[in-house]
Amino acid sequence: MTDLTEELIERLVRYCAIDSQSDADSPSSPSTAIQLDMQRLLVDELKAMGAQDVTLTDYGAVLATIPGTAEGPVVGFLAHVDTAPQFNATGVKPRVIRGYNGGAITYPDDPSLSLTPDAFLYLGEKRGHDIVTASGLTLLGADDKAGVAILMSAARRMLADPSIPRPTLRLAFTPDEEIGRGVDARLPADLGADFAYTFDGGRVGEIEDETFSADGAVVTIRGVSIHPGYATGKLVNAIHLAARIIETLPQATMTPETTAGREGFIHATDMEGGASEMRLKLIIRDFERDGLEQKGAILRKVCEAVAATEPRASITCEITPQYRNMRYWLEDDMTPVELARESARDIGLEPVSIPIRGGTDGSRLTEMGIPCPNLFTGMQNIHGPLEWISAQDMALAAQLCLAISARATRS
Ligand SMILES: [Zn+2]
Repeated sequence: MTDLTEELIERLVRYCAIDSQSDADSPSSPSTAIQLDMQRLLVDELKAMGAQDVTLTDYGAVLATIPGTAEGPVVGFLAHVDTAPQFNATGVKPRVIRGYNGGAITYPDDPSLSLTPDAFLYLGEKRGHDIVTASGLTLLGADDKAGVAILMSAARRMLADPSIPRPTLRLAFTPDEEIGRGVDARLPADLGADFAYTFDGGRVGEIEDETFSADGAVVTIRGVSIHPGYATGKLVNAIHLAARIIETLPQATMTPETTAGREGFIHATDMEGGASEMRLKLIIRDFERDGLEQKGAILRKVCEAVAATEPRASITCEITPQYRNMRYWLEDDMTPVELARESARDIGLEPVSIPIRGGTDGSRLTEMGIPCPNLFTGMQNIHGPLEWISAQDMALAAQLCLAISARATRS
């Protein structure tokens, strides 16, 4: 049998080199055609290893079945194939540092970069591990190619060995997670699982059952446009009104850079337009429903207050739901969370649950009826050039996948 760690390294390096970045500005589904290169490869590999019902859906997800060897609930496992649009993901050159010596890691393509255990304490715990990084010019894409490699390696093992106990398992490899479009309306029915897990988390032992709740807001400001030479007493400049809104919103509190832990925020992400019309985009985050509501109310009040100073302008504030904290549903039935925690203990790990200051495909999936906590992969410093992962951490994640499958047959 191939060594698990070696298989994971081989898969991660190969998958990371494939550019599958998503694009929030693209209206298509999936958002970029290059994600399908990755998906077609997975279809071929899944078929070759004997997975059943292997399909590439027209919304760009790859689904497959690992037939069960015992009774139990149908368990889903997910990973996303897209990489983050926030940093260069073209021309990724993954490299493996064997038996990490505990010192600074430098980068061949950017000598100014350095990854040190002083700055990143978790790295200090990985002495002797095989560490995978990019070369300095790109992100690595362990988020979430690590999840893909973990699931593919665990799947290959189970399919090759019918004596490994598991109920019927469903695999899903989704596109466009990074741009919040990973869970198509058809996915829950197509997946057909009683509950599921994403492999899209960080440090070893993390089993995440809480995410932010999230709303998006668009503020549109229409001024009065007129030739500036004839504007006396008539022109209303939308740029000034937009600036006033930004200036009036909380800045010393309630922003991403001034909050931590369980605190939420209002974050202005985009501002575009001109003197006649301006558009502000904001995201609102909180762990609790009422906290989210209050922050939306603050934004609305600020818009109304600024609008009241200039009746000739029109200011609208549109707030739309994005995703919700998975805890609202999981707390009604903690079975999938407890199963993962017990399975982690089965392989000698102490499970930890820290609320995620973000969302996952599992947030939407949970809301849509398939409870879906998030599990560690080992990925660190994601979405930037210092992204890294330990192959030994990934091996523990693959073992967790097998342990959950085995324990599910006894539940
Ligand atoms: Zn991810």
